[in-house]
Amino acid sequence: MTPVKIVLVYQSLLGIYGDRGNAMVLRQRLLRRDIDATVEIIEPGDAVPADGAIYLLGGGEDAAQVSAVNGLKADGNIFGAVERGAVLFAVCAGLQIVGNTFTVGDHDEVIEGLGLIDVDTRRGDVRAVGEILTHWTKPDGTESLITGFENHGGFTTLGPLARPLARVEIGIGNANDGVDGAVQGTVIGTYPHGPVLARNPELADYLLELALGRELEPLPDPELDELRRQRITHIRKHGRG
Ligand code: GLN
Repeated sequence: MTPVKIVLVYQSLLGIYGDRGNAMVLRQRLLRRDIDATVEIIEPGDAVPADGAIYLLGGGEDAAQVSAVNGLKADGNIFGAVERGAVLFAVCAGLQIVGNTFTVGDHDEVIEGLGLIDVDTRRGDVRAVGEILTHWTKPDGTESLITGFENHGGFTTLGPLARPLARVEIGIGNANDGVDGAVQGTVIGTYPHGPVLARNPELADYLLELALGRELEPLPDPELDELRRQRITHIRKHGRG
């Protein structure tokens, strides 16, 4: 079987909070199930592979995210990949650039995003910094808590084609309607770093199942469950920190 290709896009531009860890988590969770997987790291100037199963975009500063969006538009392959049904998982700046528009800099210059998900991002009146705890309703209707930390100035509004990923209990997220992130088809965005898939293995498995088009057996991990419980208790006790 051909290995599942995980494409880590422009990690030197979009990787300020170690979001590349998301690629490592996805690969490891496949390998632990005896499914072969590779991570392809793409830097600006490299062609984005057209045949990835999952594409990952991380967080970045304003200037970096403008370079990233320009590079991805010039390359163009990400559009065909999403059309083909590949999964695109985007964190923070990643979410902003896959949307319709976002603003950068002191003069709030409006930049056209990739238009792969129906969201628009504008600078808010405060910066959202701190721990975040959200409630994600999984495809089977049950709820899972997501934890991470956020650091962003852009606030995101969903258009009619996108739905939120999760409801915010503590933190800011999109800073609109008490929700975080966005989902549209196989494009999924969220604000938490962490890396978020290391802290939230069920979200990682959801992305894998979406990419593979089948259910995966669970990977019981009591130590990770305990760490999650401790983190959730800590955030509920101390708030955004
Ligand atoms: N530059 C963006 C903002 O401040 C994204 C920041 C990030 O990715 N952490 O909103």
